[in-house]
Amino acid sequence: MKATSLTSFADFALLAPLQKALAAEGYTQPTPIQAQTVPQALAGRDVLGIAQTGTGKTAAFALPILHRLGKSGTTRKPRSCRALILSPTRELASQIADSFRAYGKFMHLSIDVVFGGIPIARQIKRLATGADILVATPGRLLDLIDQKALTLRELEVLVLDEADQMLDLGFIHALRRIIPMLPKQRQSLFFSATMPQSIGDLAHAFLTDPVKVAVTPVATTAERVTQGVMFVPQAAKQGLLAKVLEDATIERVLVFTRTKHGADRVVKFLARDGIEAAAIHGNKSQVQRERALGAFRNGTCRVLVATDIAARGIDVEGVTHVINFELPNVPDSYVHRIGRTARAGASGIALSFCAGDERAFLRDIERLTRLPIPVLAVPEGVPMDVATIQEAQPKGRGQGRPQQGGRGGQGARPGNAGRSGGGGRPQQGGRGEHAGRADHGGRPGGSSERPEGRPDARRDGQPARRPRRRRPNGGQGEGGGRRDGTRA
Ligand code: AMP
Repeated sequence: MKATSLTSFADFALLAPLQKALAAEGYTQPTPIQAQTVPQALAGRDVLGIAQTGTGKTAAFALPILHRLGKSGTTRKPRSCRALILSPTRELASQIADSFRAYGKFMHLSIDVVFGGIPIARQIKRLATGADILVATPGRLLDLIDQKALTLRELEVLVLDEADQMLDLGFIHALRRIIPMLPKQRQSLFFSATMPQSIGDLAHAFLTDPVKVAVTPVATTAERVTQGVMFVPQAAKQGLLAKVLEDATIERVLVFTRTKHGADRVVKFLARDGIEAAAIHGNKSQVQRERALGAFRNGTCRVLVATDIAARGIDVEGVTHVINFELPNVPDSYVHRIGRTARAGASGIALSFCAGDERAFLRDIERLTRLPIPVLAVPEGVPMDVATIQEAQPKGRGQGRPQQGGRGGQGARPGNAGRSGGGGRPQQGGRGEHAGRADHGGRPGGSSERPEGRPDARRDGQPARRPRRRRPNGGQGEGGGRRDGTRA
């Protein structure tokens, strides 16, 4: 994923109600697709985006649309819509509408969603007064148009989401029928996870002089890295880290903390244990950073402790392990972090220490990468009393002392964790069914300090993001979800 040049949503100069909604969602930093798309879309450009679900692409198109509709003086007309988002599946359509409602909750725009498989009569009735934003599957949209319940004449913005899925599901004819109904004067935003010739041709039919934006699929990095998570109380993490570092196969390791002070504390603790480590974060001078990086690069320092922001520029070869001493509250950061150990196609190992109040972060990460992270046993000899263990261990992922597996049927192997006192070689997380974990009720919070570079990150232990209905398959066709592949 490309690094974001914009570090704050404030840089977008969005309408105040939108900024308020983003703060309420706990979003502080745009994801790469948002950083690339939002300014272009706000400038009125057509956008051709290569991005998959999980990259934050919904907000990438929803925010500029809400901004544009909120700013313009026009009002919706009966049986018409001002913005239309075409989605291949009904699940994704509902999800997109939910996102619009969340981001637009302090605005007075009407948001509706229509798809097949349910009676059309109520949808016709609702559309009588028109909608500012309409999310639709192509089949049902055409049915509504055919029944004169809707016209696209007033359309200002069109979004075609997950175009490759649209074609896979046989919507090409529906889409071709829709094109001549669209007003010439409009903005179009087109997103697809892949861009084969057929999608390129379709994009060409919808877009005018588009800006191209692309982000690397998040799963690519995550799939190359062997991952594992240990449930451990915050207070036991330092002891666990020291234990894990006894493993000599950990040749060069990056340890991530959420805060600068947290990074310093880890270095101090390790020093007391006779383990030399250096910290790199925003409070360090350039000279100190270079010295730490130099020692890490040439192997004289085996452990580098870093915050997310400081780690951005780190490109060191041969990082065998990444340890998330604290889980990041922005799931993208997890992918960036573990990617440090999978440079240039190499594979690596990423271990995460998850305290009770970080479980929501873990859930968000697994949702983003669509990879369940195998649970590893905490090695013997890490000081923990029973009460604190119970605090760390979520229901359904083992009982009492953190154990291996814990995810029925997933078969997570603990590797050697718990035997040699070493770091434990976790199993590579296979792509497949999303971790079907019930909500642990875990509230992220962890450190009471601010994560570095996130001045307005939530500090009250509330989830950084609103809990969202789990997208059955993110529309990615991994089974289970019903689709609106037919015209109902
Ligand atoms: P999407 O790719 O649009 O489905 O988004 C994936 C997930 O990322 C959703 O759960 C969003 O709520 C979340 N998300 C989107 N943008 C951000 C952001 N800037 N910061 C934190 N979370 C985000």
